[in-house]
Amino acid sequence: MSDNSSHRTPVIAANWKMYKTIEEAVCFVKSLVPLIQDVPVRVYIAVPYTALYSAASEAKGSSIVIGAQNMYDATEGAFTGEISANMLKDAGAKFVILGHSERRRLFHETNAFIRRKVEKALLESLQLIFCIGETEQEHEGGKTEEILKQQLDESLGNISAEQMTSIILAYEPIWAIGSGKSALPKKVQAVHAFCRQWVSEKWGKETAQKIIILYGGSVHPNDTKDFMEQPDVDGVLVGGASLKVESFNQIIHYQIAIK
Ligand code: PEP
Repeated sequence: MSDNSSHRTPVIAANWKMYKTIEEAVCFVKSLVPLIQDVPVRVYIAVPYTALYSAASEAKGSSIVIGAQNMYDATEGAFTGEISANMLKDAGAKFVILGHSERRRLFHETNAFIRRKVEKALLESLQLIFCIGETEQEHEGGKTEEILKQQLDESLGNISAEQMTSIILAYEPIWAIGSGKSALPKKVQAVHAFCRQWVSEKWGKETAQKIIILYGGSVHPNDTKDFMEQPDVDGVLVGGASLKVESFNQIIHYQIAIK
């Protein structure tokens, strides 16, 4: 797919998973804000629910966007332990991650269920980072594109071009998450080009060129630049290496060589 990446502002996103107390989250944000003031990237941090309000309050007025890692598709009701889009917004979340492989694998979330959550997030104007990815077995069996197409078709297939433009896609091969074994940048480029082509076929080239597509899976400070140099890679989604201010800050400053 031809590239027009210069029009897309890079996004560096953190997924803290089930880590950090309120105090740790606030301290992290407070330390990071002065370090990233002039960096031309958008920084997203998906924090645990308990830290949403405090982290969002601390990030106010800065370039850091605070969000959540999951939500339920109902507005309210008898759904013990669940949380709604409105509750997330009320606590200060500006975005939510949906379709993360840990939700799919450990909590049996299907494409159809994720679609309902996508529709609700869009309805409530909560921005979303939508994750897709294949297992190691699917990867080795040459099924990556087939699996990704199914995930995209079944969860995003019916939305409008305008809605699609607001979504950030994140390609996260399951075998690369938390394994220390990131995918090869050239292979990631090919998959991202495939995703952009999928968008283009459904909503046209103009929409496809606007879509931000992140790579996630064992991203570290010393390999971020290699991913970011790929024309269809617009950013990274980072788990482990986003937990320390130093490494996440290095990832945000990926253009500066690390000694
Ligand atoms: C993730 O959980 O989205 C992720 C990419 O994790 P890690 O960077 O630790 O592989």
